[in-house]
Parts: sequence; structure tokens; C-alpha cells
Amino acid sequence: MPSPTPGRGPSTSPTHAEVLIVGAGNAGISLAARLLRDGARDVAIVEPSPVHRYRPLLNYVGTGHAAPPDVERPTGSVIPAGCRWIQDAVETVHAQARTVRTRRGADLTYGTLVLCPGMREDWAATPGLQDAYTAGWAGSTYVPSSAPLVWPALRNVREGSVVFTVPPEPAPCGPTALKPALTACDHWRRRGVLPDLDVTVVLPEAQPLGVAGADEHLEAVFAAYGVTVVRRARVDSVDPVLRSVDVATPTGTRRLDHLAYAHVVPHYRAPEWITRSGLGEASPAGLVDVDPTTLRSRHHQDVWALGDAAALATRSSGGALRKQVKVLAHNLAAAAAGRRLRSYDGYTVMPVTTSRTQLMLVQADRRRPRPLPLPDPFAPRRSAWWFDRHVLPQVYFRRLLRGKV
Ligand SMILES: Cc1cc2nc3c(=O)[nH]c(=O)nc-3n(C[C@H](O)[C@H](O)[C@H](O)COP(=O)(O)OP(=O)(O)OC[C@H]3O[C@@H](n4cnc5c(N)ncnc54)[C@H](O)[C@@H]3O)c2cc1C
Repeated sequence: MPSPTPGRGPSTSPTHAEVLIVGAGNAGISLAARLLRDGARDVAIVEPSPVHRYRPLLNYVGTGHAAPPDVERPTGSVIPAGCRWIQDAVETVHAQARTVRTRRGADLTYGTLVLCPGMREDWAATPGLQDAYTAGWAGSTYVPSSAPLVWPALRNVREGSVVFTVPPEPAPCGPTALKPALTACDHWRRRGVLPDLDVTVVLPEAQPLGVAGADEHLEAVFAAYGVTVVRRARVDSVDPVLRSVDVATPTGTRRLDHLAYAHVVPHYRAPEWITRSGLGEASPAGLVDVDPTTLRSRHHQDVWALGDAAALATRSSGGALRKQVKVLAHNLAAAAAGRRLRSYDGYTVMPVTTSRTQLMLVQADRRRPRPLPLPDPFAPRRSAWWFDRHVLPQVYFRRLLRGKV
């Protein structure tokens, strides 16, 4: 039997929910809060982890600007009042029978199912990477246990070669992997050691972001720091003993070796049970196959998805969830009432720090950049850095997770 947390909302049945949400990350909590504010009465979330993370701050842990406790809250404290928390993990969905089987062996039933279990690291896709993390010369801000080790390692590099990778899509807000890279370059420049370092950035595409008006700024930053940029490339394998990283490029494999440190972000995929349940798209990452505008499963009318686990034909980000939650909350009510569904336009955000004090806030949808109404809107700014580091975490915990944004 699952273990619904007592006293957290109306429990018509411990094993049935009108809206059953899988995953209490940014997506699941924001949606539950929004639905309850809109008057829903029977909402439950399945989530195994006792810890909830505001993951954008992990990059600031990896640049020495935040500590792990800033990132984390007990899951119980972010579950909205009125929502049941079932502390368990989904293992299969039987969509025909509207049933979910959990790790503890419970069969939960639902009226509507919303999948938002995020992505998980695909360690098998990069042989050697996990061992290199264990050895300590590789790591990344994307892996919570590694993030606190990144800045102590980068801060003290004084000579040699360092590599930073931006993960190929799909990945959770992949471009923000440039945050530790460019912050570290600024730190090394201030210390006077940057000329003694050979810094390489590996990009999955030709342009850093693919957003006109923003890429030009980033290229200028790369040039100013003297960074070598390897484009249209992805990490193939890592040799944990030789301290080398093999990168596949359009012109063949390139070996980056004798590395002082490697900030290598793992590749990502959706949890395997999504494909096993017949709900995944036909791609190696196996994201939930939904209509990217309505967020509704292409296979089952009462299954929906949002967040990192959903195939939404845009880059995933927490910022994107502000729009996705709004559209999905509307569409659940509209579908029940037989009304017209709304469309999500692929809006997403890509905040990239370019130094220890400046950040470019880049926004775009599937069709075009979405600049703020400012002169040179994507230019790096101190105010944007401050907003991203200090204001957004407050907005996240106080408003977003409470369904107020
Ligand atoms: C290092 C880093 C930096 C980032 N920086 C930014 C940024 O600056 N700006 C920005 O907008 N976005 C950023 N993001 C992206 C943002 O954090 C994600 O887009 C967002 O967290 C996605 O939310 P989600 O709920 O879909 O997934 P998650 O936050 O991953 O939550 C998924 C939840 O599902 C749970 N779960 C998994 N499997 C199961 C299961 N089988 N059953 C039940 N529950 C399950 C997990 O335990 C987890 O709690 C960053 C991400 C990372 C990793």
C-alpha cells in the first residue's frame, strides 16, 4: 500500500485521485497548487524523494555563490495544502485501465493523469564519466552531489587544460551549463591565471543558443576570455585514468586530454517506464509523447505531461513552466467541459552568466526570440544576475510553488 501523508487534504480513497500527478518537482508542485487554487478538490502527487530542489541554484553552488541548503526544502513543506502526497515511485502506467503501479506494489487509479517526473542522467551514454566523477577530476553542477565540489576544484586551477560541456538536447535547461564556465573564466582572469589556462567549451550546436541577438554577445564573451569553442559536438566517452574526454564532432573524434578539470554534464533521458508504458515518443530519450501545444498525450485522452519529461519541441526550463502550468490547468478544465483547448507556444528561458556579476536573460518561443522591452535586451547585466541569483529563488518558493505566478 502507498503511504499517503495524513492531514494534507481530502482523501476520498487512499488509492484514487481525480487528478494524479507524477513527480513533485517544479512542474508537479506548481500545477497542483494552481489546480487547488482553481477549485480542484482531489489532487494527489506521487513523489519518492523527501527533498525538493530549486535546481537553478545548483549552478550558483558550483560558482561559490550559494550553498546546498539554499537549494533544498523538505518535500512535505512544498506540497500545497489540500494535496495528498503519496511517497512512492511510479513504475508503470496502464493507461487503458487508468491505473498506475508503484514501486511499493500499489495500484493507484485516476481520473486524469499528469506526468512530470523530469529527466534522469543517462550515465550509460557516456562510458567512463561516472568513474571520472568518483575520481574527482570531473563533475558538474547538474548532479546535486557533485555541485558542491565544483567550485573548490575550479577555484584552485592555475594552469593546464579545462573543458566545459553544454549537454545535447534534451537536457534540463542545457545552456545554463555555460554559467560555471564563464564565471570561472572571469575568476581566473581576475587572478591573472587565465593566460596560463587552455579553456575549451563544447557546444552541441553551431551557435551557443540559436537565438539571434543573444549568440553575438556570447561569441564576444568567448573571444574575450580566449576560449576554444568546439561546435556541433557531444561527449562520447571519458577515460577516468588518463583524464581525457573524447568528443564526437562532424569531422571525427577529438580527444581533450591531460585535463586539470572537466565540467562534463551527463546526457539525459526520460525515465524508462514511460516508454515501457507505451507513452514515450520514438526517440532514444523517450520523453512523454504529447501534442506540444495542448500538452495532451497523443495516445490517451486522460494522460497529460509537462516539464522536462514532456516532448514539447522546445528547450526545457523552469521558466517555461510558468506558461505550461497555466495552459495545462486551463486545458484540464476545458477538456472536462468540452471547451476549446489552449496552446503552449514553446516559451522558454536561457539565463547565462557571463562573469561573476553579469547575466544574459534570454527568452524565446518556438518561432522567435522574446526579448524584454529594453535597449539591447540580451546584453549581460548586473541587475539580471542579481535577479536570477537573489530574487527568483524567493519568487520560486513563495509564489511559483504556491500556484500564484
Ligand atoms: C543545474 C541546473 C540548472 C538549471 N538552471 C535553470 C535556470 O537557470 N532557469 C530555468 O528556468 N531552469 C533551469 N533549470 C531547469 C529546471 O530546473 C527544470 O526545467 C525544472 O526543474 C523541471 O521541472 P520538472 O518538475 O519537470 O522536473 P524535476 O524538477 O526534475 O522534478 C521531477 C520530480 O519527479 C520525481 N520523480 C522522478 N521519477 C519519479 C517516479 N517514477 N515516480 C514519482 N516521481 C518521480 C523526481 O524525484 C522529482 O522530484 C536548471 C536545471 C538544472 C539541473
